[in-house]
Amino acid sequence: MRLIKNIVVAGGTHGNERTGVRLVEKWMERPECYSTCCPSAEVELELSNPEAIRLNRRYRDHDLNRAFSQVCLDAQNEPQEYEFRRARDKTDLLLDVHNTGSNMGLCLILSARDPFTMKASAVLAQEFKDVRIYYQPEERSMSPYFGTVAKADVCIEIGPQQHGTLDARLFEETESLVKRYLELADEWNRGELQKRAPIQVEVFTQLRDLGYPKAWSLSPIEAMIHPDLLGRDFCELKKGDKVFRTFDGKDILYEGEADGRTSVWPIFINEPAYYEKDIAMSLTVRSVEEW
Ligand SMILES: [Zn+2]
Repeated sequence: MRLIKNIVVAGGTHGNERTGVRLVEKWMERPECYSTCCPSAEVELELSNPEAIRLNRRYRDHDLNRAFSQVCLDAQNEPQEYEFRRARDKTDLLLDVHNTGSNMGLCLILSARDPFTMKASAVLAQEFKDVRIYYQPEERSMSPYFGTVAKADVCIEIGPQQHGTLDARLFEETESLVKRYLELADEWNRGELQKRAPIQVEVFTQLRDLGYPKAWSLSPIEAMIHPDLLGRDFCELKKGDKVFRTFDGKDILYEGEADGRTSVWPIFINEPAYYEKDIAMSLTVRSVEEW
């Protein structure tokens, strides 16, 4: 069994996602808030992108959470751009706290089928009402995401929360959730978490991203998220359901997938930060598993 000897809790990977920023700042000021949660590991706190935090902006030069592929790391022996300089460390477990404007609840994003992150996330899905598990498999050396520089990681996406702002209820839930991960890491190191009975969980697995309707890639978007779909993250979308509304009031319907699949579960619906990435939502498939 692999022990978790060091854990990084990171906030501010995106500088305007303020829950993680304030959580890490609070714990830096008051270590007693977390220091007894996981005595078997060294817990480090990290403000991932201080310059973007100061600006209260997602990033300065590059999106930090897309800057971590081995290609980026290898290409930058003397990184010029600010965000690349922070991408080098390796750690056993990284908990990276983000916010989203979408109605994602307490979304736990797993990038690999790691035995600890699966078991701990399943326990949290039992304990917290709004937890959702999103599995977004990443080839670790190719992945651009911050968390994948660690041996295991969970990207915690909390929403809906406007970027640049705080939400007291979500802050408190996030703090409880991150503390529980630390306690469960300690339970893992004692060999006890592994002995818990399997837990039935809903898993939403990435299928593909869906862009906004456009004539060509650089032209303006031709439609908005349909009002019937707005806020309905993790709800089933069936062939024939409304997805977009054009600016002259026409509905655009979901047509199903090329492989014949007729329903999907959209998430990150209308996320503001994804307009520049041309992502209107991510489509996932739902499964029920024993973790
Ligand atoms: Zn983020």
